[in-house]
Amino acid sequence: MKNANRKALIIRAVFLILACAISLLGAKWVEKSQSHDDAEGSFIPGVYTAEANGFGGPVTVAVTIGDKGGIADVDIQGPAETPDVGGAAMPLLAKKILNAQSADVDGVSSATFTSNAVKEAAAKALTLAAGGTVDEGPKPEGDDLFVPGTYTGVSKGFGGDVAVTVTLSGKEIQDIRIEGDHETENIGSFAVEMLGADILAAQSPKIDALTGATVTSNAILRALNDALTQAGADLSKLPDARQTGESVVRTSETLETDIVIIGAGGAGMTAAINATQAGKTVILLEKMPYVGGNTTKATGGMNAAETHYQKEQGIEDTVEQFVEDTMKGGHNINDRDLVTVMAENSAEAIDWLDSIGAPLPKVSFSGGATNKRIHAPEDGSGVGAYLVTAFRRTLDDLGVNVMYNTKATELMVEDGAVVGVKAEGKTVDYTIRAQAVILATGGFGNNEDMIVQYRPDLKGTVTTSAPGITGDGILMAVEVGADLVDIDQIQLHPTVEQSTSMLITESVRGDGAILVNQEGKRFTNELLTRDVVSAAELAQPGSYAYIIFDQHLRDGLKAIEKYVSTGITVQADTIEGLAKLIDVDPATLAETLANWNKYVADKNDPDFGRESGMDADLSQAPYYAIKIAPGIHHTMGGVRINTATQVLDANGDPIPGLYAAGEVVGGVHGGNRIGGNAVADIVVFGKIAAESAVAWCQEQSQLQPAA
Ligand code: ADP
Repeated sequence: MKNANRKALIIRAVFLILACAISLLGAKWVEKSQSHDDAEGSFIPGVYTAEANGFGGPVTVAVTIGDKGGIADVDIQGPAETPDVGGAAMPLLAKKILNAQSADVDGVSSATFTSNAVKEAAAKALTLAAGGTVDEGPKPEGDDLFVPGTYTGVSKGFGGDVAVTVTLSGKEIQDIRIEGDHETENIGSFAVEMLGADILAAQSPKIDALTGATVTSNAILRALNDALTQAGADLSKLPDARQTGESVVRTSETLETDIVIIGAGGAGMTAAINATQAGKTVILLEKMPYVGGNTTKATGGMNAAETHYQKEQGIEDTVEQFVEDTMKGGHNINDRDLVTVMAENSAEAIDWLDSIGAPLPKVSFSGGATNKRIHAPEDGSGVGAYLVTAFRRTLDDLGVNVMYNTKATELMVEDGAVVGVKAEGKTVDYTIRAQAVILATGGFGNNEDMIVQYRPDLKGTVTTSAPGITGDGILMAVEVGADLVDIDQIQLHPTVEQSTSMLITESVRGDGAILVNQEGKRFTNELLTRDVVSAAELAQPGSYAYIIFDQHLRDGLKAIEKYVSTGITVQADTIEGLAKLIDVDPATLAETLANWNKYVADKNDPDFGRESGMDADLSQAPYYAIKIAPGIHHTMGGVRINTATQVLDANGDPIPGLYAAGEVVGGVHGGNRIGGNAVADIVVFGKIAAESAVAWCQEQSQLQPAA
């Protein structure tokens, strides 16, 4: 009886709670759907209109204040905004302002230009509605475009503020200076370097962003808009120089050279320098507006054995050990002959880098290497950007013809031999005849269709690959009969921030960081190989983790400044505070760190047997976390080559005139590439590809009848 009563009571209580919830929800819905005519506020009834510069021209906001002093209606007009971007954002922004009864609302993230203009214009209109006045700024005289003078605009780029200073006459942008020291070297830095010329040529901010560097490009254009607005410009009167496809008139051209190299990453630039030094004429095709590819992103160093740096520093190492380490790291499916050639030629490659002014004297341990073998720049900077800068300088010094924005589309074949390349420039279709072609187009990490074709399980996985790394060389080679090897071997990197695809360098864990899951618990030895740590992360709830470190670690590692300035870190003065920010149970995270710090003191990790990266504990506030998950990092498979870098067909026979080097090639790294071997690969095989292509050219010339 007692039980029956309690049950009845509980049912009644649940019913009451449900009824309350339903009536509350109902009230909320009614409130949302009602008009804002009766909104209360302190504005003066009437319609107030103001203007601000958007992306393409003025954006006008008309605010209607109702009888009770609240915002009753918001009308936004911006006919020059990009329809799918700013245009689509305007109705959303009108709703936000109405709901907030204020101009202080969050912008629409994909449409920052338009959002800022709408907010600025709405704020001005509301100032008028509050009885205030608005300073409309200077107005150009007569039919001038600008009030002459020098103006500076500032906007947030990828790594920090970007400033644009323009000197204007009444009708002309006479000079421009772009400052953005914090932008990524050899990516955003190219936009800082190059966009000024485009802006001067176009006399307008309406130009295309630099492909692959859109965040920095847009920051520059926002800062420029700001500067021009200060000068009273009406942006809708400035010309639109964005390429629309229909506006381009295409022409054709035929060129001739000894060797065409496709792709100006590490392998392609190494090959171009060596072939030019050997006296051959070279055309280096690069589909992006800048060189570097994935090479720019290499952070660690270059593996090499028996180098003069190792000898000078008393480090014992052998070519044989390098081969064994690479085979073991690659699960022994690598092509041992290719690995042997890479190891045997690695010391000479280091000497060659010395000779072009790119020494790598700092030798240390890295994952998978028995001895200290990874060679890095003296000042601790990332090896990729450092080498790309040196390669670019050398190409300039040698006067190599680098054709930017020119995409190779097809290999030309005559009598079974490759005799040139078809390529598409911005406005010209090229036929480039050559005696030899070197493929150096990199991997296919940024071609989702290819990734899914070979590894359906990786669908939707973010990639750390540069935008140009889309497998073009592999596809072109297959068209002319090339064989592929290990094409499904794709390396995941375990620490990639997913919203920016930014790779958190292994050094963060190497210097002592730990990984925890959403429960605040460690789940692996953080320094196992990339494939194992990635798999462990994927097995966690949500398939992600947090990398946790402290101020001491930040102080010792330059790379972290970039993560902080990009805004991907969260930080707090206590571990509990950090836990709250990442929605982890504070007590559990505190316990995990206390345990870890004890393991570091004891030099013993009973949980997961970690043995390295335990020199310092994590005890110095503030504490930091970055949310990470695995990302596609390196495609280890690709075209099959022999040790002379000749591309082989399905019978194992060389395709005459066709060579390949770098990430486009398969077989060097097997099933797992160890850190430091990508750079060894591109320098060693880039050089060999040049030597082989040069020898082939000489053979061809001797065969040709004298003119
Ligand atoms: P690797 O490490 O093998 O040298 P990278 O990724 O550093 O490779 O560089 C490859 C380069 O090739 C990139 O700069 C990329 O933009 C370029 N590239 C890729 N496909 C083409 C193509 N079809 N035509 C011209 N350049 C290309």
